[in-house]
Amino acid sequence: MNVAIVTVGDELLAGRTTDTNATWLAERLTARGCTVDRITTLPDRIDAIARVVNEYHAEYDAVIVTGGLGPTPDDMTMAGVAAAVGRETTHHEAAHEWLTEQGGYAADELAAGTADLPEGARMLPNEVGVAPGAVVDSIYVLPGVPAEMKAMFESVDEEFSGAEIHTETVVTDEPESALVDRLEAVRDEFDVSVGSYPGESVRVTFSGTDRAAVDRAAEWFADRVDTGE
Ligand code: ATP
Ligand code: MG
Repeated sequence: MNVAIVTVGDELLAGRTTDTNATWLAERLTARGCTVDRITTLPDRIDAIARVVNEYHAEYDAVIVTGGLGPTPDDMTMAGVAAAVGRETTHHEAAHEWLTEQGGYAADELAAGTADLPEGARMLPNEVGVAPGAVVDSIYVLPGVPAEMKAMFESVDEEFSGAEIHTETVVTDEPESALVDRLEAVRDEFDVSVGSYPGESVRVTFSGTDRAAVDRAAEWFADRVDTGE
């Protein structure tokens, strides 16, 4: 399954908040065997959200949007997602019921619009906060607050699947430039993805759906580089 992640928030673009939601989602989706094809951050603007979500909805199997839920004036996400699929937001009875019955909010306590979702959406209850999420076609709209986003993703994670990907990592103190020949050779020899990530040491990862092939490639490579062992 190919997935696009869209995080919404002016504070992300201004560098005031680190986008940990995108990283967390990308890691979880990849572990489930999905391929994350795009991570895009957008401002709190309906037109920007509508345009990008419309494009990604056409291109990918699913789109996950986080941030900018809720009824406050700076929260544009539900309206942007609704516009992306050519619908309006409207009072969602199940969301209203969940908030008043299980969420423990009196109807007159709820800010106007708290229970508004795009027409035809499936409501995702917010077990940790207030603003409900939504699923519209294959677009998943989750809160921005990380604890709320994680809890809500976990309620739908089984809808994201693919062949499980196995990964092995080999760490070496050799400089990356010196490894080029063996990186090329391991790529030629085995049908697995190879990544090399320089830092203090170089981390070389081997990944693919065939666990035995991944293990063989990692062993082959570890035998040919200086791993300090
Ligand atoms: P609320 O219903 O509380 O308004 P929300 O879903 O509208 O929540 P935002 O208003 O977009 O979420 O963000 C709330 C807070 O969550 C932000 O101040 C920020 O601290 C955090 N947050 C938002 N987006 C992200 C993100 N992508 N990564 C990490 N933290 C985030
Ligand atoms: Mg908000």
